Amino acid sequence: MLNTLFNKLEFYYEEMVSIRRFLHQHPELSFQEKNTALFIQDYYKKLGIEVKGNVGGNGVVAKVYGKKPGKTVALRADFDALPIQDEKDVPYKSLVPGAMHACGHDGHTSTLLVLAKVLNEMKEELEGNYILIHQHAEEYAPGGAITMIEDGCLEDVDVIFGTHLWASEPTGKIQYRTGPIMAAADRFEINIQGKGGHGAQPHKTIDAIVIASQLVINLQQIVSRKVNPIDSAVVTIGSFTAENAFNVIADKAKLIGTVRTFNEEVQQFIENEMERIIHGTCHMTNSTYQFSYEKGYPAVINHQQETDFLIECAKAVSEVQNIEETEPQMGGEDFAYYLQKVPGTFFFTGAKPPYVDTAYPHHHPKFDIDEKAMLIAAKTLGTAAINTHRV
Ligand code: MN
Repeated sequence: MLNTLFNKLEFYYEEMVSIRRFLHQHPELSFQEKNTALFIQDYYKKLGIEVKGNVGGNGVVAKVYGKKPGKTVALRADFDALPIQDEKDVPYKSLVPGAMHACGHDGHTSTLLVLAKVLNEMKEELEGNYILIHQHAEEYAPGGAITMIEDGCLEDVDVIFGTHLWASEPTGKIQYRTGPIMAAADRFEINIQGKGGHGAQPHKTIDAIVIASQLVINLQQIVSRKVNPIDSAVVTIGSFTAENAFNVIADKAKLIGTVRTFNEEVQQFIENEMERIIHGTCHMTNSTYQFSYEKGYPAVINHQQETDFLIECAKAVSEVQNIEETEPQMGGEDFAYYLQKVPGTFFFTGAKPPYVDTAYPHHHPKFDIDEKAMLIAAKTLGTAAINTHRV
């Protein structure tokens, strides 16, 4: 049966490429993906596959029913783009100013569409049911996953698989990990209110720049002195603003940053410690503050059994030359929410473009993928989908 799957996927590879290039030329930003959602629905309707739009927003869910009874397997692909100007010099460059598929979600979508088409052609021999989850708004918290789940996309689902095309790794490599594979990514903002004044009369002021500087240093102690070294965490201040003339003492200062963690206990601990340190520093310096902490996506935690199974599936794909365990990535992904509800695994499919020595990173204006990687992703996901019933 895997031979049929692989042959059919190869047969439709050109279609996969042309869908990806069409989507690449027509990107839509998170929560605005109306046309992409219609394109996906259209594709399924033309094939006579059951499909539903507006799932939890712009999400689309299609279903393929195998003839024989079995489990229900969900496969997920995201389809939103980023507010980035495409600077690549390729014929399939984005036609939309200021929008670009700079994370490979176009590739995820065409991979899943063509895989679904093949599964549908094979449905007479298939066991169980296949739920194709096309998710909008992965790039922008609160994201699309949470509302799609609330709207029932995981109903009756026994197991879920998802992949990300990963341009930093060569095509032919699959990276997996049991447990945390991607971090919880949070955002915070601290506004310090001091008392401005003349640069020559510091004694009559409360210098917001000095206070914010102390905060930058004091906050470093959370990770270095407070978090258990066995746990991973990052506290980064990415922005420090307090604009003024050269001879004026700043009234206000603003710090913006991000916290990355792999478990909720550490995450909550850091938020509490931040509050304590900010409170203390401001109390000491007679200033006031506003602290806001926005939780982003939780960490993506892969399940052991499904990850082990995925490794076996990847071995069945001849183009996969290298299967390795990855370090946890500090980036965020709302695939996390599916894995909180049902067992499954999220993995990386190497997709480094063949024409470069070093790939442009994800979210870069010149980001691109090796389209061959879509075939590998489809074969690996397809094997997982079909073989789930055999373990
Ligand atoms: Mn992405």
